[in-house]
This record gives sequence, structure tokens and C-alpha cells, in this order.
Amino acid sequence: MTASAPVPPEPVEPPIGLLAELTHRCPLQCPYCSNPVELVRRGNELDTATWISVLDQAAELGVLQVHLSGGEPALREDLEEIVARAVAAGLYTNLVTSAVGVDADRLARLRDRGLHHVQISFQDVTEEGVTRIGRAPGALARKIALAEAAVRLGLPWTLNAVLHRHNLDRVERFLELALELGAHRIELANVQYYGWGFVNRAALMPTPAQLERFRTVLERAARELAGRLAIDYVIPDYYARYPKPCMNGWGRAVMVVAPDGRVLPCHAAHVIEGLEFPQVRAMPLREIWYRSAAFAAFRGTGWMREPCRSCPRREEDFGGCRCQAAMLLGDPTATDPACSLSPHHAAMRRLAEVESTGEPPAFVYRRFGTRATMRRRELAPLPAD
Ligand code: SF4
Ligand code: SF4
Repeated sequence: MTASAPVPPEPVEPPIGLLAELTHRCPLQCPYCSNPVELVRRGNELDTATWISVLDQAAELGVLQVHLSGGEPALREDLEEIVARAVAAGLYTNLVTSAVGVDADRLARLRDRGLHHVQISFQDVTEEGVTRIGRAPGALARKIALAEAAVRLGLPWTLNAVLHRHNLDRVERFLELALELGAHRIELANVQYYGWGFVNRAALMPTPAQLERFRTVLERAARELAGRLAIDYVIPDYYARYPKPCMNGWGRAVMVVAPDGRVLPCHAAHVIEGLEFPQVRAMPLREIWYRSAAFAAFRGTGWMREPCRSCPRREEDFGGCRCQAAMLLGDPTATDPACSLSPHHAAMRRLAEVESTGEPPAFVYRRFGTRATMRRRELAPLPAD
């Protein structure tokens, strides 16, 4: 086959995971939140019966795990009912929470309904740092209390550390905290620049020196903590050599259901103009997965252009992130500029270096109704080298 020969379509496997964004409401206001800038309001959220139907359909479709996320999923009063139904449908259930809205008693009720795992986000390791990011005073104490409750209840839990320029130098303390609190796993997740993170990129981007130090700490921790703490990490795309295998491929492993019932291949996919995302109130999940134009748009490798089309890594990273290509280049079919083979890669890296070394602008906090602020801060497409 020559480099430019058409690629035959591959058979579509069922999804493995469902990200159920139960609500966009949240007591915190993190400026890196990956939720869209235009948040879904409470009145447009799916009701309990529809979420239950979504979970049943997902299990029937072949989904194995459901991540109950938000916003803050604990703001849903029907969370216990949703967990119980997911478990009854045979799904592994992971609650992704800020810990504000779930105390030990509620966690015990969720555990009794079969919850399998809880992931607690830590904005920082000090009360002052957490308040600066999340604007919810006292939140660190609640996170610690919830982590302790998870251990008492025998629930495995993950500490999700969201890292950026203002806390990356405290990565050792995040690791210590995870050990002290009995976490099974820590996710050292440098901010990815989507949603509110994209709006606040210049305020959050770490410097190259911070990233270098992070890599050194990570290598040491992987050696010293092997067998005691599972460590996952995410590097900011802007400093990567190759892109991440975003969502393990478009329409290949995961479905996302937004609070209003829109179904997307990725939580950021709404930035791609011209794609219409199906509504779970109007179309069965099975049909959405196998037949909708939105899920077929970038599935497999047939849509790729060069350099991805003939690249030996195309089945590993799937050409990177379509949303990032759309946001930074205005073209969702382009190679993700996070890839060093993209003609826009050097400009992306330069942008990160310039933004990270400048005076950080004030945060635009995640709140309902700040769409106008986003418009003023929108960025021009990256130039080619
Ligand atoms: S990132 Fe912060 S604001 Fe966004 S859902 Fe999580 S806790 Fe809430
Ligand atoms: S050229 Fe495309 S497939 Fe190859 S490494 Fe870069 S993004 Fe991945």
C-alpha cells in the first residue's frame, strides 16, 4: 500500500467506558476546569429516569466502567440511586469528586449501594492553596476527611493532583500526602488546556524548568514507591514530543454523556464546529455509537492526512487530539500540534515558554455566565514554522 492509498474502515468495537457528567454545578471554581465555558444549567440536566436508562443501555452495549463525574456529582440528590442502578447493571463505578458535598456518612451510603472506587481531586496541599484555586474555604479539610473515610470503609481511592505553575513545585508533598492518607493510586495530572483551562492558559502554564524538575521527581518516586503507590502522570501537551492517545482514539473506547444528554466522543468535542452531537433523549446509545456521524467523524485512521497517515505511530496515538487541533489550528483534521512532526509544533512550544515566563494574568474563575470573558481572551491560530 502506498502512503496515500485509502485506508479501509476497521470494525467498530463496543465502548469500554462511559463518562457520565451528572451535572456542571460545582461548589468550587477551579480556573482549569475542563468543563465547557458554556455550562449546562440545572434546569437542562437529565432526570433520574433518563440517567438510569443511559446506564442500562451502556451496560447492554458492552461498557464495563462508568465514571460518575461533573461538576460535582454529589450535588445530585439521586446519586445513591444512580450508583445502585449502575452496580445492578454490572458496571464498575468510580465516583469523581471534589469531596465537597460528600461526607463520611454519604460515602458509607454509596459504598453500601456498591460503589467500587472514589477519586478525590486535590487542588493543592495547603488550605490556602486549595482556596486560591477552588474558592471554597475549608475544602482541604473535607478532602482529607473523605480520604480517611474511604480507607475506613475499605473503598480504594485515588488522589487526583491537578498540577500547574502555582503548585508544581510541591509535587513531593502531593506524593507524601497520598502515602499518609492511604491512597491506592495518585494521578499527577498537569493541567490540559481545554474548557476553562484554555481560557486561563497563560496563568497556569508551568515553565520548562518546572517541568524538568517534575520529571526528575517522577523518576525518583517511580523507583522508590514501586509496590506502595501506583503513580500515573500527565505532561502538558505543549511540552510533549508526541501527543497523548486522546480518549484512546475517537469513538474507540469511551462515550461521554453531558449533563443535558448530549453524547460526545470526548468531553471537549463541542469545540469542533460543524459536528452535531446526538441527544440521548432522542437516540439510543447503541445507535449513537455505531451509526452517528459525530462518532464516525474521526474514528480509525481513514480521516488522517500526512504526516499522520503514513506514520508508524498512528495506531498508538491516533493522531493526538482532534479538539486541540481545532482549538489551536482551526482544523480538526490536522495533526495535533503537540506532535513534534507537526509543522505547528515549534510555535506551540514557543507559546508555552512565552506564557509561562510572563507575569501570570489573574484567574478567570469557573462560574456560570462568563461567556463574554472567554470571547475577549480567545487566541489566534498557531502559525506554521
Ligand atoms: S475542576 Fe474544580 S470546578 Fe471543575 S468540576 Fe472539578 S472541582 Fe469543580
Ligand atoms: S504524525 Fe500523527 S500519528 Fe505520527 S506521532 Fe505525530 S500525531 Fe502521532
